[in-house]
Amino acid sequence: MKIAMVGSGYVGLVSGACFADFGHDVVCIDKDQSKIDRLHEGVMPIYEPGLDALVASNVASGRLTFTTDLAEGIDGAKAIFIAVGTPSRRGDGHADLSYVHAVAREVAEHVSGDAVVVTKSTVPVGTGDEVERILADSNTPFQVAVVSNPEFLREGAAIGDFKRPDRIVIGAETDFGREIMNEVYRPLFLNESPIMFTSRRSAELIKYAANAFLATKITFINEMADLCEKVGADVQDVSRGIGSDGRIGPKFLHAGPGYGGSCFPKDTLALLKTAEDYDSPVRIVEAVVKVNDSRKRAMGRKVLDAIGGMDNARGKKVALLGLTFKPDTDDMRDSPAIAVAQTLIDAGVEVSAYDPEGMELARPLLPKVHMADDPYAAIENADAVTIVTEWDAFRALDLARVKELAKAPVLVDLRNIYNPDEVRARGFDYHSIGRA
Ligand code: NAD
Repeated sequence: MKIAMVGSGYVGLVSGACFADFGHDVVCIDKDQSKIDRLHEGVMPIYEPGLDALVASNVASGRLTFTTDLAEGIDGAKAIFIAVGTPSRRGDGHADLSYVHAVAREVAEHVSGDAVVVTKSTVPVGTGDEVERILADSNTPFQVAVVSNPEFLREGAAIGDFKRPDRIVIGAETDFGREIMNEVYRPLFLNESPIMFTSRRSAELIKYAANAFLATKITFINEMADLCEKVGADVQDVSRGIGSDGRIGPKFLHAGPGYGGSCFPKDTLALLKTAEDYDSPVRIVEAVVKVNDSRKRAMGRKVLDAIGGMDNARGKKVALLGLTFKPDTDDMRDSPAIAVAQTLIDAGVEVSAYDPEGMELARPLLPKVHMADDPYAAIENADAVTIVTEWDAFRALDLARVKELAKAPVLVDLRNIYNPDEVRARGFDYHSIGRA
């Protein structure tokens, strides 16, 4: 089957490469010429483990191609996926659907046969109806069904998630839509992937409900961590103690600097807007958004406390290890590191940083932060070292070298990757999250 993937970012490129790997003929389309040029040269426009090899082998087999020309890309495609961005709209937090609508209009103009238009982007309830209206307005003579197929992959583990998903959600209103989607995902049935057919609106809401629930879990354990610090408990024990209950589950119970990334912040906000529009408040999610927002700067203040408080901060230096919102990605969107760095800079602290993959995208967001060539260069002369992202490279730092290079042996571990007793035994003033 020929599949067109409109939007070749984190989701589109990974999905396209995986579909090609399943044996489909895939054209990845993007309006960003430099992205497509790089893909033609075999250079990945994003960092995602394993993606370069997957793309290379499917390009070599002739099943995966790239273009900026949508009309050419969708010609003969049975499934046309929309995988463009849906960022927060400036000012009100609503999902900005302008990219999705623009693609729908272009598809309406150029569709050249019966096809299913599949929204893979995360879009608010009712967006499928609007895409359907746009297509209907174009009076295309072809049968075009609009289907919702939200994506649940995680950056950093995207290929594995796509190939072995917990579930595939398909929101379809017609048999034609369901048939094509069955064909698209048939190769996955060998792995017994549970495919779930729902209404289009349910599928759209499932994605937001899932992200809001995960954001709630993270925020819940973060507040428990704060309480642990006050009452003299250990959040890692609390987390293990509750997570081993099958009804709760151990995942997303790691206390840290607050959630960030390209999805949770914007999707929780968009869900609030939908709830407001339909006069059906989601107060738990409201609280989650507020608590998480204030947490990011609070983490900056935690670092300030470790170097003697805000009043003594001016002129001091802090090294940040890790800038991306999580390891194994170069994605800086809404990373907690941004708020942590900004809080320090606002207090007059000089900030140097190192991240294995994120510095290129971090530079324009954090122009006042000095980007170092390696973790030890960032640490030189620092009054405190702060671990913001739990990259493997920071899990086994040469602590003797850290102590030698830094001005003071202060380690603020916002991801709890070190053992407090061991680090303190090495002479560090060690601060972590929720461990008294
Ligand atoms: P992204 O910004 O990495 O990629 C979007 C791409 O779409 C860009 O390359 C952009 O140039 C392209 N684009 C925009 N308008 C276009 C047009 N008219 N024609 C062709 N290409 C166009 O975004 P992403 O992270 O891949 O996210 C895409 C969607 O998937 C979002 O709705 C997001 O919420 C959702 N999602 C993302 C993730 C994730 O982990 N990144 C996971 C699940 C769902």
